Amino acid sequence: MATTKNFLPEQYRQSNKLGINHNYLDQQFSDHQVIWAKMRDVVIRGDFTLGSEVDLLEKEYAHISGTKHAIGVGSGTDAIFLSLKALGVGEGDEVITTAFTFYATIGAIVTAGAKPVFCDIGADYNINSLEIEAKITPATKAILPVHWSGKPCDMDAIEDIAQKHNLAIVGDACHAISATYKGRTAGSLGTLACFSFHPLKNLNVWGDGGIITTNSDELADKLRLMRNHGLVGRDECHMFAYNSRLDTIQAVVARHMLEKINHITESRVAHANYFDKELRSVPQIIIPKRDTDIYQVYHIYSICCQRRSELQNYLIENDVDAKVHYPIPMHLQPAADYLGHKKGDFPIAETIADNTISLPVHEFISRNQQDHVINLIKAFYD
Ligand SMILES: *Cc1c(COP(=O)(O)O)cnc(C)c1O
Repeated sequence: MATTKNFLPEQYRQSNKLGINHNYLDQQFSDHQVIWAKMRDVVIRGDFTLGSEVDLLEKEYAHISGTKHAIGVGSGTDAIFLSLKALGVGEGDEVITTAFTFYATIGAIVTAGAKPVFCDIGADYNINSLEIEAKITPATKAILPVHWSGKPCDMDAIEDIAQKHNLAIVGDACHAISATYKGRTAGSLGTLACFSFHPLKNLNVWGDGGIITTNSDELADKLRLMRNHGLVGRDECHMFAYNSRLDTIQAVVARHMLEKINHITESRVAHANYFDKELRSVPQIIIPKRDTDIYQVYHIYSICCQRRSELQNYLIENDVDAKVHYPIPMHLQPAADYLGHKKGDFPIAETIADNTISLPVHEFISRNQQDHVINLIKAFYD
């Protein structure tokens, strides 16, 4: 059994030492006094469990998503898990998804009782929609596209397939708040869309939180029951279910951040565009495919590069927190052994995992810092 020690504090301490960092939380919450004051109100009212701040956030989130409903839950992972459960996914079912994602996507499928069925990705690191149809079996219940790095997937094609085969779509939109696809918000794509408020997501809280958006009255009702023990009232339970309520204290932070999300998004997009423009001329670098009818919001800014490990070490030595999201695709993780995959099964995902590097692109990166990173990369290849 692998170690179970909490590695996060040390991990954050290490990368916090670097000057140009992926972590910007001290700056992000420099106005924490304002948030404390709003929390104080909640504490004085004792409005802790599914309090009014949760209701207000859900209304505001549904509004910005252009959906009928938003349901606050405990985390992005729970958002995916509960969405699958609300659709009736369980033992013996299959869910088609991407081999290139964060562990939580697959964890939610597996803990819901289903088997993850992987597709390879395309040149934009998103699921290759051309591979989906061949993976459908009588056991398939849903397609789970991940809008990687805040770029919505090829939804026209995915929605056609889902409709033809009567499948639901659960969107992993944890990177994709404010992203749009042909004018439609990430929250309105698919049957349900799932968001995370993890501290390093584009909209972040002081711990964990998540939200699900949908236009389905039936699924929204079911999810509101499922996140709160199946209760319709204090003494009446309509289904034995879960406790995955969005914390009211976290809803305060989420509402505060929602006021800033346009600025956060626009800064990230501007920084990413600048990196694209300056790095496109570097022959050792490949920028992922961009699309003009998609508004990509760059939860991460990843590119492919030659001599990835050397470049990463060089950037870290020079005070830049270069990261890899993520070096091992899902089908090659030890956790996936039981699925019987091998190297070569999803060659594009494997190639991207071997060659990708992520540069800090959050709203507090300055033009000078970006130029510094760009010059380092150019100097490395000269
Ligand atoms: C962060 C993330 C999740 C999980 O969100 P949590 O709030 O941390 O549970 C799921 N999918 C993707 C792609 C993510 O990046």
